[in-house]
Amino acid sequence: MTAAVHPQPASEWPDVHGRFGPYGGRYVPETLVEPIEELERAYSAAQADDTFLSAFAHLLKTFAGRPTPLDFAARLTEHLGGPRIYLKREDLLHTGAHKINNCIGQGLLALRMKKPRVIAETGAGQHGVATAAVCARLGLECCVYMGTEDMERQGLNVGRMKMLGAAVTPVDSGSRTLKDAINEAMRDWVTNVRTTHYLLGSVLGAHPYPRMVRDFQSIIGCEAREQILEAEGRLPGTLFACVGGGSNSIGLFHAFLSDSGVRMVGVEAGGRGTHLGEHAARLAAAAGYTGARPGVLQGTYTWVLQTDAGQIATTHSVSAGLDYPAVGPEHAWLADRGRAEYTAVSDEAAVDAARTLSRTEGILCALETAHAVAELIRRAPTLSRDSAVILNVSGRGDKDMATLARHL
Ligand SMILES: *Cc1c(COP(=O)(O)O)cnc(C)c1O
Repeated sequence: MTAAVHPQPASEWPDVHGRFGPYGGRYVPETLVEPIEELERAYSAAQADDTFLSAFAHLLKTFAGRPTPLDFAARLTEHLGGPRIYLKREDLLHTGAHKINNCIGQGLLALRMKKPRVIAETGAGQHGVATAAVCARLGLECCVYMGTEDMERQGLNVGRMKMLGAAVTPVDSGSRTLKDAINEAMRDWVTNVRTTHYLLGSVLGAHPYPRMVRDFQSIIGCEAREQILEAEGRLPGTLFACVGGGSNSIGLFHAFLSDSGVRMVGVEAGGRGTHLGEHAARLAAAAGYTGARPGVLQGTYTWVLQTDAGQIATTHSVSAGLDYPAVGPEHAWLADRGRAEYTAVSDEAAVDAARTLSRTEGILCALETAHAVAELIRRAPTLSRDSAVILNVSGRGDKDMATLARHL
């Protein structure tokens, strides 16, 4: 592998206003306009600075464990009767998922902006753990907001964050989950903006976050593209990835966007049914999932699960990382243009797929990833036997063992 000093491939999107077609943009309160502009300037300068880029590449390699392997899944391929399945092993990264890529990038940016304090919000705790690890590594103060309901469910991750020196701040308002934690983090940011960087965990939020997080994650596809060309001497027919906010999927897809022969499939959480409240499928209307329409959430215009009155809907998924009412604006734009397809998979199919992958390949994947595995299993009979596909194994499943034990 050549050193990935310039991981982000050129892209015409977003435009200078942070728009992906009609989506994206910047919908923030007056008090955040200046800090967001400061972040945009700092990020632009960092992208053109070899010192920043080589520090990023160095930590990806020595701290996170990149490059991750592209692993040929011989037994799953045989079990399904083709296509030839390759697994991009982001589950092997430090802290157990792709999230660390983005946390390293933004942590270095916080240092560059001379902001000694980082805040983040977390649902299941995975983003909180990755943020806490990077902050410890870089000597940054770290404060993670988390709903009390989530803290009860994710005790192990709360312990990991504290062990890594982060202050975990309980949020006891509203539904006491992720969206309440986001509100508290926003309040903190407005108050402490001079000293504090808000480290957002996915391709969401106001411009430049969706673009910046995508760029930091695009290392996944850059490596995978080179690795598949080496292994197969050709490009893959199809890419599969799960879509929560959309960062691991856009990270894989991005390097292949101009390869018109490569199909892309994003898999959302189908939960336990197609009605609003039962799922977290924002872009899978074609598969029958209802309740999503364009709207503004957390600073960006995108597809949002909402009631007829425009209230943010409750969502459900067996996997916390996919359980979110909005999707990254770039995915909405890829869906509109038909460049990527989006579908959803039920809780039950995801749990079954996690079992199949474990038993054929010896890989216990995260329940988020298992959604992509389920869709691959469903489509395998329709794919050409000797085509190659890449599935992004976004994370490892250790965190999900209690949930899996209840389902099996
Ligand atoms: C957080 C998480 C996701 C969902 O987030 P994206 O931004 O959509 O990638 C998927 N898989 C794992 C393992 C995660 O931790």
